[in-house]
Amino acid sequence: MKPTNNNNFISKIVKYSILKNPKRKIKTRFPPEPNGYLHIGHAKSIYLNNNIANKYNGTCNLRFDDTNPRNENVKYIQAIKKDIKWLGLDWYKAPTYTSNYFNQLYRYAIQLIKKKAAYVDELNANDIKKYRGTLKKTGKNSPFRNRTVKKNLTLFKKMKNGMFPEGSMCLRAKIDMKSSYIILRDPVLYRIIVSEHHQTKKKWCIYPMYDFAHCIADALEGITHSLCTLEFLDNRQLYIWILEKLHFNKIPPKQYEFSKLNLEYTILSKRKIQKLINLKLVSGWKDPRLSTLSGLRKRGYTKNSIKTFCQKVGVTRQQSLIELSLLESCIRKDLNYSSPRRMAVINPIKLIITNIDHNYTEYLDVPNHPNRKEMGHRKILFSREIYIEKEDFCKKSVIDYKGLVLGKKVRLKYAYTIRANQIIKNKNNDILCILCTYYLNTKKTKILPKKSYNIIHWISKKNSTKTQFKLFNVLFTCKNPEKEKNIIQLYNPNSCIIKVGYTESIVDNEDIQHAYQFERIGYFLKLKKKNKYNILVCHRIVSLKNKYKNLIN
Ligand code: ATP
Ligand code: MG
Repeated sequence: MKPTNNNNFISKIVKYSILKNPKRKIKTRFPPEPNGYLHIGHAKSIYLNNNIANKYNGTCNLRFDDTNPRNENVKYIQAIKKDIKWLGLDWYKAPTYTSNYFNQLYRYAIQLIKKKAAYVDELNANDIKKYRGTLKKTGKNSPFRNRTVKKNLTLFKKMKNGMFPEGSMCLRAKIDMKSSYIILRDPVLYRIIVSEHHQTKKKWCIYPMYDFAHCIADALEGITHSLCTLEFLDNRQLYIWILEKLHFNKIPPKQYEFSKLNLEYTILSKRKIQKLINLKLVSGWKDPRLSTLSGLRKRGYTKNSIKTFCQKVGVTRQQSLIELSLLESCIRKDLNYSSPRRMAVINPIKLIITNIDHNYTEYLDVPNHPNRKEMGHRKILFSREIYIEKEDFCKKSVIDYKGLVLGKKVRLKYAYTIRANQIIKNKNNDILCILCTYYLNTKKTKILPKKSYNIIHWISKKNSTKTQFKLFNVLFTCKNPEKEKNIIQLYNPNSCIIKVGYTESIVDNEDIQHAYQFERIGYFLKLKKKNKYNILVCHRIVSLKNKYKNLIN
């Protein structure tokens, strides 16, 4: 893969470190916790880690950061691997697991105890929090802080042997309860969790905390640059402290932070996504409205569009909320090039062209792509009864209206000019159809009057397949739901609108899952599977313009 994000600040740091140590092999890692699916923020991190490794002839590990068995599951491990492969990326050798190092981590914890740099604490979680203090108030030592090494070793061993219940004890680093970095106020290193682990099964009932395990796993794997997001800025102090205390030889790995990707109208936090799933507000991690990689893939996003997006976002230390329109412009650009054009009518209204015979059919030759001749042509049918969009018909003319108006003319795309003459209604006053006439000498390329007519899309009834359209929209009604307390209240009830209309029959006949541009509407994915009523389903990948601001569109 070609390197992207070429000259970001991390790349400069790596370049400088190579100048200092030319023989050192650059090693990065991507460390997901298998507690959910990957999202577009993770894609940014995967690309960054891979690109740095590729650019400097190094390697990038995939390490499952599996230190909390209660939240983790092998199904997430499989999904994460699949998503990384889908992005067109790979990892160095086999994936690693933090749990591979549980034995070593346990021994390092014992080393810290022996160095009087860790102790077993019996304060409960609440008291630990209380004793820790705040930014304004220094912390207070735990009454268990000054136990002897011997006592600590015995208790820690007993913890490991499952002799204490969860929450009754933990191992803490002995650093400084007055430190200006709250993270250094005797952080917890190990806690008791009586839960089977997906890798180590029932072997352990104590599990290391992220901060303890991560730096050691980095050091054991020979990682040179440990890249993480900015919330871990203060944790860097602990990262350095642990590696120093344990005297990791040679040059220890170093942590560098960059800003998280935040995207408008969506949430990326796995915990919050899980909440939406639990409440059945989305169908699962792969719901096409989510910004998970599986969701985006199901929606019809291409890996190329995600890569371009990550490139455009770049890598900085500036916290920002990225506009959704940037992501949408990336997929539009991709699909504009790759997708064949078809016609579809989402909100149909019938027109009867009265000066055409009942049995008359005419095949019109239509290009599949306006700029790519190699995509060929297809025949579309023109006949007496056609469908157009309800929005493309209006009884009276209004300013800037581009559709068909009673008594006026409009051009049918690739076909003829028609005139609307009469509205036919049923006894409930609903419009049944519009009677029109067409002008034979106005076909396609025929020269039109100088003041050209508006152009609308249409489908002949004889050439149409009934289709269910799923119109996806943003999941939340506010730009930055991640910042809000009650995201459920901000859930967009119109995030999936279902309509039944028509597509050209060719869409159904093409026997593959395919992305199309439905002319004048947007990019849609035709699904392989029909719905339970055996009706063709097409869902919207992205509209032609930024319509998400109008949430019910
Ligand atoms: P989440 O809040 O979504 O659960 P996380 O940081 O807990 O995120 P991890 O599985 O621990 O998820 O993340 C793996 C890697 O991906 C970490 O290095 C993390 O910094 C990075 N990462 C996570 N979210 C983002 C994001 N929004 N933008 C960029 N990188 C991210
Ligand atoms: Mg995490």
